[in-house]
Amino acid sequence: MRLTIIGSVALDSVETPFGKKDDALGGSATYSAISASFFSPVNLISVVGNDFPKRYVTMYEKRNIDTTGLEKKDGKTFRWKARYEGDMSHAETLSTHLNVFDGFRPVIPPNVKSTDNLLLANIDPELQGWIFRKAKPQGLVACDTMNLWITHKRKELLKLLKQVDLFLLNDAEARQLSGEENLLEAGKWISGKGAKMVVIKKGEHGALFFKDGLHSVVPAYLLRKISDPTGAGDTFAGGMTGYLSQQRKITNSILKKSLMYGSILASFTVEKFSAEGLLKATKADVNRRYKKLERLVKV
Ligand code: AMP
Repeated sequence: MRLTIIGSVALDSVETPFGKKDDALGGSATYSAISASFFSPVNLISVVGNDFPKRYVTMYEKRNIDTTGLEKKDGKTFRWKARYEGDMSHAETLSTHLNVFDGFRPVIPPNVKSTDNLLLANIDPELQGWIFRKAKPQGLVACDTMNLWITHKRKELLKLLKQVDLFLLNDAEARQLSGEENLLEAGKWISGKGAKMVVIKKGEHGALFFKDGLHSVVPAYLLRKISDPTGAGDTFAGGMTGYLSQQRKITNSILKKSLMYGSILASFTVEKFSAEGLLKATKADVNRRYKKLERLVKV
């Protein structure tokens, strides 16, 4: 089964205590698609401006990420500027320029089938909802978001929550959306709004998973040095849904494995700036870390 991913393709300018990069490859769909491509063929739906370097499109194609749905419009590519300080647990957004994303309504490419799985990576929930209605997905539907949309598009987000199978967000966003300080209460509140499964990502503290009124935990793959946490959440979502797309049946054990892969893939992203770490990793590197994490959690 293929995985269709819609989200941002961006040029990011990011500063962390370990360095600074301007106009580096980023965007929720970029991280999610690269991560998912370790397991599954991907259809990417997004938009870039005429300043978007061709070499990135070549890179997507080489990784089995179909770019038929990556539109090129006159104008500038989406830009995001952010800074991380201290333990780098949260990004401080300095500026967001939607540019070609402003009012963007994509054409769904003919190779996108309703039986595909769908990942609505972080982007305006109005656009996520529009795609959902157009694509009429029958496969697994996952959705990610961020604080900006919880603040400004809460109504649209709550509408989407009713329709998705899997909803992913980080701890601060879960608290903001639910109004609950306690994350178990936040997870319960979000599940109560309709999502069949909920993942609350907690950075270096792993993630919480909620399904059928129960919860479980998945640890992060801990590293001695993190350079840039940008895209960790998107990478987690892509790894998890990419892995699930290749499974015949989604059992609780498969879900557990998909969460572990999400965690592992995210560890490659945070090691280096932009998507460099993720792009350098091989399938063997991923499996090595998976085995190590598996050994660490065994009792
Ligand atoms: P994460 O670190 O997982 O929260 O995601 C960071 C990525 O999200 C960056 O590469 C940004 O380009 C992208 N991003 C930031 N703000 C937005 C936004 N408002 N809509 C869509 N993508 C965004």
